[in-house]
Order: sequence, then structure tokens, then C-alpha cells
Amino acid sequence: MTAMAQVEIRPYEGLINRVYEIFSIVDKLPDKMSDLEVEGMMHVLPSELAGTMRAFMVPRIRGVSLKFLRLVKRWLDGAHEAKRTGKKVFLVPFNFPPEIVHCFEGAWPITSEVLSTLGVVALEGQGERYWDYAMGLGLPDFACSANMIEVGSALTESDFIPDAVISDCFASCDINSKTHEFLARYLDIPLLFLEKTVDNSERGVRQYYKYFFRLVEDMEDFLGEKLDEERMRMVVENANRASELFWELWDMHKFSPCPVPNVFSLVTYGVRYTMWGTEDAVEVMQAMVDLSKERLARGLYPAEAEVARSLWTYTSYYFDMGGLFNWMEENGITHLGDGLDLIFPQAIDPTSRESMLTGMAEIARNMPMTRQMGASSMSVQWLDDISWASRELDADCCIYCGHHSCKQTWSGASVVRAELMKRSRIPTLILQGDSWIKRMTPITVLQETIDEFVNNVVKRREAPARAIG
Ligand code: SF4
Repeated sequence: MTAMAQVEIRPYEGLINRVYEIFSIVDKLPDKMSDLEVEGMMHVLPSELAGTMRAFMVPRIRGVSLKFLRLVKRWLDGAHEAKRTGKKVFLVPFNFPPEIVHCFEGAWPITSEVLSTLGVVALEGQGERYWDYAMGLGLPDFACSANMIEVGSALTESDFIPDAVISDCFASCDINSKTHEFLARYLDIPLLFLEKTVDNSERGVRQYYKYFFRLVEDMEDFLGEKLDEERMRMVVENANRASELFWELWDMHKFSPCPVPNVFSLVTYGVRYTMWGTEDAVEVMQAMVDLSKERLARGLYPAEAEVARSLWTYTSYYFDMGGLFNWMEENGITHLGDGLDLIFPQAIDPTSRESMLTGMAEIARNMPMTRQMGASSMSVQWLDDISWASRELDADCCIYCGHHSCKQTWSGASVVRAELMKRSRIPTLILQGDSWIKRMTPITVLQETIDEFVNNVVKRREAPARAIG
């Protein structure tokens, strides 16, 4: 297998290495770019990256996008810098709060699902070669493409290698936890883990906190570094500020037409899963709030009217940002957020080490997927969260998409759809396809299906949403 990896994928062809190189373009972009400059840039970019940049660089969001792209670049820089300076890099899944890693002077987090997404949006071939590589090794195709694309690259042993893996998917997603465990064993690097208790009673929560404190001790032992309280406080204060801004942005979604651009849903969790707890995260969250307020005040909206307000119940599609987020917005279909925005951030009490760690443990317990798929009944908890969010944001429809192999959500999707209709009269469109792999269902087919759903179901509803329940 090693020989195969060396022949087929060379170091400069690894996903992280390629994404890092291609993102170096971000450092060269000026703060303000004219339409002409943006157009000029498109001519020199590879087509996949050009498509993504076109979506992010539409004039109405350009300023915020540049800030976000810089944050992503600094996050990638941080991992490379860590390797140069002897810090340790932890590979974490998206539902592990990265601020816990940022609390350590000697550690840096990289997130498998974010890396897969960066590969899909920026690289020629959209990361499919890494998925194929993993399948070629005999890994099952019911693996989660969200992480398997990046893990497939790591398995080639020719890419950037983390120093350890932290997994907190035990008891919330079997395939995610197994994938990360397999990677750690295969690369022969430590696996640190945090198990979710399915029991959400007081006893279960106490037990979860115990596991969390144990994980922090394991991190301290591995890094040879005791957490410094002052450094933690700084991280916690940044996280608290970002959380306040999260809720401000959430509230801005309640206006109709929605003043929050569709792609901010993705930007929000892009920030949450990478740099939460840093000043960069606060800056990007603030920029999104400011722009949305300005759009509200000036009545700006990119379509003639808002014709549908959709809440996506799990993930969105990432292989064509313009084809999904911007296309919807320009057709008056608001994307109010998706399951990955169900972050429910809370203020952490900065009084002591104990209070800060307890606050972070509670945040970890409520992260998306952990909270829903790791509940004692995944369909009930998922439904409760979606019905609450759709009521709060005044959604008039829901859309489910995931990926072909997400057994967790597929097993509950139709139950959630039926109950959502019964409780709140909100129809759900269930889409086939894969969020990260375009060859499953092309974006044009998805657009047609969404269009038909909006015209034939959402616009023709007899009773308004929330008539019952
Ligand atoms: S629940 Fe689904 S989307 Fe989440 S990690 Fe597991 S397989 Fe992937």
C-alpha cells in the first residue's frame, strides 16, 4: 500500500499541501478589489477555484469574503508554522470545539471536514482522487465523504501529517469515529478521544464532563504543557464575543426579505470549526453582522422578492458555491442556515480554570451532530432542534441533503419530515446527492428540483407554516 501511495500521489499532490499552496493567492489580494481586478484574477485561476472565487467575490459580499479567506489562510499557516516551531498539530472532526486546542500554546487544530471542503472548492478534480484512493484501499463506500476525502489524502502518507488525532464522535457517529481511529492507527499517531454519553440526564451530563476533563489531561500529558489560565481566559473571551455575534446574526435572519446573504451560513461554521476563540474569528463574525445590518437598513436584496425561506436540515452542497447559495439568493430563495449552524453557543464563565473547562465541556456536548445524532433518540432531538430553528427564523420550508452514506441522518430524515409537517405544516424536500462529491447529482438537477419544490409546493401551501404546533 505504501508503494502504491508513493507511485500514485506525490507529496505536492496531497490535499493539505495543495490547498495550502493554492491559498497562498489570498495573501496577494488587495483589501479592496474592483470588478475588473476580480475578472482579471479569474483568468489565471484553475477552473474549480475560479468558480468558488466567483461566488465569494460577488460585489455584495466581497469585503466579508476577503476577511474570511484570510482567516482560512491564517488557519492553514498556523498548521505549517506549528510544524516548523515544534508545536503539535491535532486533527479534529468538525464537532470538536477548536478553541480547546487554541487554549494551548503548543498546539494547533486542523479539521478534517473543513479540509475536505477546501479541497472540493479549490482543487482541480475537487478532491475526488482522495476519495477514490481510500475506496481503492478497500475502505467502505458508506464512509462519510465529509472526512474521507481528507483522510484519503492522509492515508497516502504523502500529505501533511498531524501529530495526533482527537475524535469526539464516539457514540454520535460510528463511521466518523472509526475513520479517525483507523487513520490514527494507520499513521501510528496517538488517538485521544471524548465519548458522548447518550444519556442526557444529570448523571449522563456529569459523566460527559468527567470524560471531557480526562481528555484535557490527556492533551496536557501529550503536549507536556499545563493549561495556562490567563491564555485560556483570552481564548474564552474571544469565544464569548464570537458567540454574541453569532446570536446577533441569527436574529438578523428573522427579517424578511432576509438581509443575511445565503453564503454566510457556510462562513459562520467555517469560522466556528477553525478559529473560534481567536481575534480573527471575532473580526469575521463582526463583519457579517455589520454587513447584514447595513443591508437591512438600506433594504438591499438581490432578487425582486423573497419567495421562499428555507432551512436546510443537515448539510448543504459544497461543490458549487455559486450554483447553490448565490443561485438560490438570486432567485429569492433564502438559505436560513443548515444543521451545521445549530451551534447553540453559550457564554463561558471566565472566573476560573474549572469554570472555563466546564463551559467548554457544555459547548462540546451541544455541538452540531453530537447534540442531535448523539442523543438518546436522534430523530426526536434532531426534530426538536429543527422545529425550534424553523419557528424562530420563520422558515416556510425545509430541505434535507446530506451525502449518500450518512446512515445516521438518512435513517431519521423521513420521520423528521413527517413530524415537521404534522407539527408545523412545514414541507421538507429530500434531495439525493452528496454534499462533497459532484458526480453523484449535478447541481443543475438539484436546482431544477428545488425550483419545482418552491413553485409547486411552497408557494401553493394552503395553510401557512406554523398554523399548528
Ligand atoms: S452523521 Fe453523517 S455527516 Fe455527520 S460525520 Fe456521520 S456520516 Fe458524516
